Amino acid sequence: MPLLARYIQFSQTGGPEVLTLAETTLLDPGPGEVLIRQTAIGVNFIDTYHRSGLYPLPLPSGIGQEAAGVIEAVGAGVVEFAPGDRVAYAGGGQRAAQGGECGAYASHRLMLANGLVPIPGEIPDEVAAGTLLRGMTAQYLLKRTFPIANGMTVLIHAAAGGVGQIACQWARCLGAKVIGTVGSTAKAELARAWCDHVIDYTQPDWPARVRALTGGRGVPVVYDGVGAATFEGSLDSLALRGTLVSFGNASGAVPPFSPGLLSQKGSLYLTRPTLGHYTATREELLDTAADYFTVVARGDVEANIGQHYPLADAAQAHRDLEARKTTGSTLLVP
Ligand code: NDP
Repeated sequence: MPLLARYIQFSQTGGPEVLTLAETTLLDPGPGEVLIRQTAIGVNFIDTYHRSGLYPLPLPSGIGQEAAGVIEAVGAGVVEFAPGDRVAYAGGGQRAAQGGECGAYASHRLMLANGLVPIPGEIPDEVAAGTLLRGMTAQYLLKRTFPIANGMTVLIHAAAGGVGQIACQWARCLGAKVIGTVGSTAKAELARAWCDHVIDYTQPDWPARVRALTGGRGVPVVYDGVGAATFEGSLDSLALRGTLVSFGNASGAVPPFSPGLLSQKGSLYLTRPTLGHYTATREELLDTAADYFTVVARGDVEANIGQHYPLADAAQAHRDLEARKTTGSTLLVP
């Protein structure tokens, strides 16, 4: 039977005010699809890039990458999941565009089953919805993009943020000493719980502090989701032949530069990874999610939900995220 879903959509790119609440009719799930009643929705920085047009989408569009919920119905050929199963997704599983298509900011959603992961019994829906995308990101950054070795000192930017909190805790579990950066005194207080050293990167010459903490050598790796504002400082914080893992643009995209810069700064390496390429196969997706859920269930990583908003207040959630007011992960409640 057709179902009326509430969802957030936008018809033009711009500020948070372009996000509006709408309703659409969802049909029964087609072959390979499931219908999910969503219980919690994650708000990620990438959603602001879609809304602003930095990462363009065909318009009008739904918005959002991540949610958790309960399967209400399955389409033909779905054998991995059944009605009543708790599932989550982070990026994958979008259907081919067709009428009534929502993003993750929705009360209900039709998804391809092969983009979903099962939620283990000990993981609450809120944690899966609010942190799966960030947790899987931390997994591939720390274990596969530049694998952390025991005893390394690493630099992780925006240590009080969503990815930052998870990555700092996980890096320490892998044996690293963590230098975390933050943009305010209040966030520094918070980040001290999971960093060995905290630096306020709004202060001038913060890379000199990184050098001072590493005997003048610099760090072998910087994980940088801040982008334009920290790019140069991140390069200046690296040891000879160090690696900059540039994985986001919270302050804006890194401007074009000459590769010669990497030579001048110490024969450095640069990579610009994205989660989809590290969860490209079904096996990679399931393994990455399971690895994340395991460290949370063990208590090695505490997945902190810093803010909750009603679905209809998605614009306010974006405002707060972009104004650097949030800590940890952010949830919309349908
Ligand atoms: P966060 O919760 O970390 O929020 C972003 C943080 O960045 C802010 O809280 C702020 O912390 C810091 N920041 C610094 N400068 C600015 C600025 N000018 N405007 C806004 N924030 C700023 O967000 P997420 O955890 O959702 O994402 C973190 C980063 O990781 C984002 O860049 C995101 O795009 C990226 N990402 C990349 C993925 C990938 O696979 N490549 C996957 C997932 C996320 P402070 O106040 O302490 O400076």
